[in-house]
Formats: sequence, C-alpha cells, structure tokens
Amino acid sequence: MNESEKPDSPKISSKLLKRAVDFHGHLGPFLVLGLIMSKTALKFLKKVSSVMVKTRLKPPRSCLLDGIQIVTQCTLGNTKLTVVESQSEVSGEFRSDDKNILIMCRKSFLDKLESRMKRKDKPLEEEALDILKIDEEIFDIKEIEQKS
Ligand SMILES: [Zn+2]
Repeated sequence: MNESEKPDSPKISSKLLKRAVDFHGHLGPFLVLGLIMSKTALKFLKKVSSVMVKTRLKPPRSCLLDGIQIVTQCTLGNTKLTVVESQSEVSGEFRSDDKNILIMCRKSFLDKLESRMKRKDKPLEEEALDILKIDEEIFDIKEIEQKS
C-alpha cells in the first residue's frame, strides 16, 4: 500500500465515543486509539470478521481492546477477537472474507504519547480527545496475504 492510499484519520462520532466510555468505564487515550484503529480498518474492509490484536495486557495499552470490540463487534466473548501479548507492539490485524489489513501504531507516536501520559502533562481525558485532532500519522497500514 503506497502513501497516496493512506486514509485520512476517520471521524469518531460523539455517540460512538459515549458508547465506548460507557462500556469501558473511562475516557482514555488507548480506548480512543482502539476506536480510530478499527474505524481505519473499516475504510478498507466492508466488514471485519475477526481481529488479532498485539498489545501489553495491562492498562493503559490494553484499553485499546475495548475500543476495538465496540467498533468491530469482534469480542472475547464471541471469540472473534484474539489477543497476543507484546511488550513493544500495539497492532491489530483486521480480517475479512477477502482481505486482511494490518494496522500498527507507530513507535514514535506511542513514545510521545506515553511520555506525556507519564509526565501527566494534562488530564487523560484531554489527552484522549487530543488524539482525535492530531495531524501526525499514527499508524502504519498494510494489506497482508490471506493464509488459507
Ligand atoms: Zn482504560
């Protein structure tokens, strides 16, 4: 996938954001990242049939999982969501009948976000909402071969 095919950052409606916060319990940056990541996947796939996520299994990074479940309806309960622990990577492989899209959070973005969170520069809610507005590229996106 080349540069020109990169989608603009997707719109997250306030209704979706509210549903996510109601489900997850609080508004945090990684919850929002999960929403954006999944909405981005849906620009490439008509419907997501399953997702494999790599993340640390502790908050804040694991908060991503709830954002993904809300948007894709691939959940732990319906077993369409698989989670693999990774200390470094935050990524989602979104699968559909005809293609798979791998979306990886850029390390540069994660490093900056997490150092701001550590310094408590601003309330987490504000940090989360700011992600909806930033200009920089958050993800690397590629289409991957479907293994049969
Ligand atoms: Zn959270």
